[in-house]
Amino acid sequence: MRKIQFFDTTLRDGEQTPGVNFNTKEKIQIALQLEKWGVDVIEAGFPIASPGDFEAVQNIARQVKTMTVTGLARCQKKDIDRAYEALKDAVDPQIHVFLATSDVHMQYKLKMTRDEVLASIKEHVSYARSLFEKVQFSPEDASRTEKGFLLEAVQTAIDAGATIINVPDTVGYSNPTEYGGIFKSLIANIRSEREITFSSHCHDDLGMATANALAAIENGANRVEGAINGIGERAGNTALEEVALALAIRKDFYQCESAIVLNETKRTSELVSRLSGIPVPKNKAIVGDNAYAHESGIHQDGVLKNPETYEIITPTLVGVNQNSLPLGKLSGRHAFNAKLEELGYQLNDADSKEAFKRFKALADKKKQITDKDLVALLADQYREETEKYKLADVQVQYSSNGYQGAIVSIIDEEDETKVASRIGSGSIQAIYNTIDELFQQDPELTEYEIQALTGGEDAQAEVRVTLLDKETNEEYRGIGVDFDVLQASAKAYVQASNHLKQKN
Ligand SMILES: [Zn+2]
Repeated sequence: MRKIQFFDTTLRDGEQTPGVNFNTKEKIQIALQLEKWGVDVIEAGFPIASPGDFEAVQNIARQVKTMTVTGLARCQKKDIDRAYEALKDAVDPQIHVFLATSDVHMQYKLKMTRDEVLASIKEHVSYARSLFEKVQFSPEDASRTEKGFLLEAVQTAIDAGATIINVPDTVGYSNPTEYGGIFKSLIANIRSEREITFSSHCHDDLGMATANALAAIENGANRVEGAINGIGERAGNTALEEVALALAIRKDFYQCESAIVLNETKRTSELVSRLSGIPVPKNKAIVGDNAYAHESGIHQDGVLKNPETYEIITPTLVGVNQNSLPLGKLSGRHAFNAKLEELGYQLNDADSKEAFKRFKALADKKKQITDKDLVALLADQYREETEKYKLADVQVQYSSNGYQGAIVSIIDEEDETKVASRIGSGSIQAIYNTIDELFQQDPELTEYEIQALTGGEDAQAEVRVTLLDKETNEEYRGIGVDFDVLQASAKAYVQASNHLKQKN
């Protein structure tokens, strides 16, 4: 059976989702979970984009054990050098070089002729090959590139030393018949003495990202790129979990296999959703909360008699309902550490000590600490570490007939406590007005969402907010989880305000 390699770009293309910013610790956490999930190649970032991106790629390159680690580079020497520096310690490094080949991109974005583009591919792929054993080349906007020129560009990259050709549907324009056809024709027409791996990279602008990726596989692609939960620029990338399950459930049809550990799927999805702040829609294929819920009487009756009547995927296959024993007040350090390990966390001593302290504080208020509670607790801890201003205290004075008042204190980067007080027509508005005063910012609150993190009467509240910076039109997100709704609301707002302050 043909093996399909999974190439995950959650940390690069996925991070291009508006308002999504992972810090280095979060990126490492996601990388380690992706390794557990069975990903073959991880695109850890775009090393030249920023010092933070470089640091994250370097850290992931050093910590990952089985995955190939790749970094993105434009057709520029400085990009390739920077990627080399970031990746050189990886067990299996790979570089991903790209250059646009469609007429509209060459004419308006690059202002380069076809000959100049071919010359640049030749020069930079050769240069990349002098530093890397594995070079992947992407003709950006390939699906809108004139077919003859696409073949020329790909052949040039192969002649210069690329052994992996990625064919991106950059703007989500293609459809399965057309996209599959591109692979078929490229594979039939390229000349190479070495084996070339073809890779798909699709966007979901027309809702066809997964279908297009599968069409590529049917037509000879042995690698598929995408992001967990389909996050990414605009409508997002191919949701890798959908491809993984399609290949597994319809093995009879695709005749392909992958290294994906299916029962780690739900956990991987939850981690990315938590750290990105992008919730998974309830009806999302494979990982949505309703994906395995049967509502109509006829369906329920059928499933009770034989699950196969209406259920093509069992929830346990993807790791739903696998919540092993929850922790409680009496759980000791040992049980706590064992649980973290089970969840895929590898914490250093200081982090694990701090996490245990937070766990104990939560266990005083909540009877059962579930996996979801723990993931939220660690996400909070990681976020707070990088926050300039930390929330210290919230007080609200409530009146059923008039304005509400709030007093909020924060600790700034010099370890000084600042206090402010404002009113608002509701308690949350009063808190948010006060936080704006402390941050000296005036963003627009464009989204406020609240839900229970888990089931049960003593569930924690999870609040998600999105702030719009009126000057730059950029969005900043925050999530707060707490036993108390007002506290969770304040945490989420402080987190988003910190992002805005640091413009990240
Ligand atoms: Zn993309």
